[in-house]
Amino acid sequence: MSKMKYLKERTMLVNYGKKMLSEQLTTGTGGNLSIFIREAGVMLITPSGIPYEETKVEDIVLMTLDGEVLEGERQPSSEYDMHRIFYEKTTDINSVVHTHSEFATVFACLQEEILPLHYIIGSIGEKVRCCPYETFGTKELAQTAFEYIGEDKGLLLGNHGVIAVGEDLPAAFSVAKDIEFVARLYYRARSIGQPVLLNEEQLTEVVEKFGTYGQLRTYGK
Ligand code: 13P
Ligand code: ZN
Repeated sequence: MSKMKYLKERTMLVNYGKKMLSEQLTTGTGGNLSIFIREAGVMLITPSGIPYEETKVEDIVLMTLDGEVLEGERQPSSEYDMHRIFYEKTTDINSVVHTHSEFATVFACLQEEILPLHYIIGSIGEKVRCCPYETFGTKELAQTAFEYIGEDKGLLLGNHGVIAVGEDLPAAFSVAKDIEFVARLYYRARSIGQPVLLNEEQLTEVVEKFGTYGQLRTYGK
């Protein structure tokens, strides 16, 4: 293990896995995280079914986009297709975060999108869409998630959870947090009334502003 590659990225994945738990974005072994090393064409992904508190740097799996494991004794996350499809088919996404965060998953179970009730939604898109249900760990889920997300940074996975993407891990993680934040607001606002939604002009402005907000969004994470 002394020659283990990408120790920095492995360490980030281990730490962000713990962060996913401590920030209540998932429970148990739900969800998974990955980083794509674009110049080498390889990805690092969390192992399948190992609790985040117990995951060590050597448990992170290094694999090619064809699914060949290069380093690691563990099975890669069952959702590796849903991660690699973004690395294969885009030029700017280098990290994927999948969670089962509670409020967002409530809307995913209703297969209902989250409408723009708060400006933070602009870090994701004009709303948070929801794709239909597909079985976890399948190519169909990967394909459906990729089709439905469009140009957005995150999506609800029908009857399952959340996927968030970004140019790096802090950015993707921040989107996963923002999705849970707006889901919680939407749930609460709807339980006492009907939220006033941002209009098209306000949304366009805020989505544009988020486009140049990268450094601040990831600062200190
Ligand atoms: P893994 O433990 O295989 O990553 O699966 C967790 C999950 O969330 C499946 O959708
Ligand atoms: Zn899942």
